[in-house]
Amino acid sequence: MSNVLQEVLAANHQYAADFGDKKKLAMPPARHLAILTCMDARLDPAKFAGLAEGDAHVIRNAGGRASDDAIRSLVISYKLLGTREWFVIHHTNCGMEFFTNDVMRKLLASSLETAALTAHGFQDIGKGPGSRAGEYVEWLTIANQEQSVRDDVERIRQHPLVPASITIHGYIYDVASGNLLEVAHAQTEDKAA
Ligand SMILES: [Zn+2]
Repeated sequence: MSNVLQEVLAANHQYAADFGDKKKLAMPPARHLAILTCMDARLDPAKFAGLAEGDAHVIRNAGGRASDDAIRSLVISYKLLGTREWFVIHHTNCGMEFFTNDVMRKLLASSLETAALTAHGFQDIGKGPGSRAGEYVEWLTIANQEQSVRDDVERIRQHPLVPASITIHGYIYDVASGNLLEVAHAQTEDKAA
């Protein structure tokens, strides 16, 4: 068994031993809240936003972008499970700022091994062959954090399956301080605001 697998199973054993009343939690988020954020390992939404099990939906992907699949989850979140207030939270020092579609496609075309982040951006250090299948993926990279938050809030706001009654907040999480920083003009109460 790998070390990581052993560690995960040991931690889970302890967690389940103290599970207690969590077996009584309802499926709909108790605080009617959903957070779309980045998968970055430094971000723990339960801790930085004070969430307990059963409180909220947390939807995560690379960058915390409003991809079609993130919107699919958000629509299910309100339509079937009653969330009413959503947060889009990107963050400082996001890995999505360090490449473009073009860079990612070239890296994948040359090698499927992990690239290295150098002073000149991500560079391949592994062996080929790679694959050109990366040409068909929109990687949703980030050139400007505030703009990406505004773009994603706007994309969700304008989506035909998202009702005006949902409040959407746009924030940037600062990985150097743990603070949530509001993004100006990314706050919408409803479609008329
Ligand atoms: Zn990130």
